[in-house]
Amino acid sequence: MKVYQINSSPYEANAFLVVTEKPVLVDVGMNASYILDRITEIMEPDRVETIILTHGHYDHWGAVEEVRQRTGASVALHEDDLYLLDDDVSNVAAMFGAHGAGFTPDRLLCAGELIDLGDGSSLEVIHTPGHTPGSISLYHAGSKILFTGDTVFPSGSFGRTDLTGGSQEQLVESLKLLSGLDVEVMYPGHGDVTDNDVAGQISMSMRLAQTYL
Ligand SMILES: [Zn+2]
Ligand SMILES: [Zn+2]
Repeated sequence: MKVYQINSSPYEANAFLVVTEKPVLVDVGMNASYILDRITEIMEPDRVETIILTHGHYDHWGAVEEVRQRTGASVALHEDDLYLLDDDVSNVAAMFGAHGAGFTPDRLLCAGELIDLGDGSSLEVIHTPGHTPGSISLYHAGSKILFTGDTVFPSGSFGRTDLTGGSQEQLVESLKLLSGLDVEVMYPGHGDVTDNDVAGQISMSMRLAQTYL
């Protein structure tokens, strides 16, 4: 298994291509042609089986319809963020000047579900509400990697909870849940990938998030 960061700029959400027997995209960002070019450099785009969205915010899925069409992949989102897709303000599309961009996921996820990577391993869906009701993190136990979306970022940062459906209480509980995992590499929804004492960084985020309760 190999993970490539393929987002188009540091100013938009990260997108990751997980190359396995059944390749997966974790978020797609907003620039479809760039993402598709990057995938093409690595493998045939039609090999992508699933596009997993860490949550329902536009900066993570703006390119999804075009990328879905080009790859033939199915799009998965946690069921609790489905309601955000219909509203440009709630899904923050309006912040990026996009309107009516909503899409229909092919698969709705819930806590504990496994996404088959085809090599005898899978990504586990960890429901981590707080930033949005349906925010998820994705854990690969075999390689101790965690995709965190906008729930937790490096260096003690964490996602904002003042947008539609956000909850600081839920975020703190989610960070507690993540701090109990054995993680060596964090792949956040924004910022740099880190392998430096990830458990310590997540614990720091949890402690700081608690101070805002
Ligand atoms: Zn984001
Ligand atoms: Zn977000």
